[in-house]
Amino acid sequence: MENTRKKIRCIVKYENVVEGIYNYAIFLPLKSGWSNNSLYTCTNCGELFVIDWENPETENLNAKQIAGSTLCPTCNLTLSLHLVSYPETIRISENVFGSLANYPFSNEDEESEIIEFYELRPSLK
Ligand SMILES: [Zn+2]
Repeated sequence: MENTRKKIRCIVKYENVVEGIYNYAIFLPLKSGWSNNSLYTCTNCGELFVIDWENPETENLNAKQIAGSTLCPTCNLTLSLHLVSYPETIRISENVFGSLANYPFSNEDEESEIIEFYELRPSLK
């Protein structure tokens, strides 16, 4: 994997994502007319990835197809076997997973930050 990084604007929320864990930082990509990013996480190590659905390369593909045979840059496992939607699944530590399924989504620009993630793109052949 080329390990391309992409900076996107996210709202950062501090939430109770699993019993006993409060104020856990959750990143929610800001949606707007010109940006449509989704985050995914590796269930083995918790690394986060962004997919840019505005990128023509991702058209008609799902996240696992985009990951293809890419290895996770952090834990080196085949990413497509360990890739799930975030923050529906949040890997906190070994065997501890949280979830933020129905988060209130706000499009307000306040409190947002630019954060860098690994970008998942289809491997070009
Ligand atoms: Zn990983």
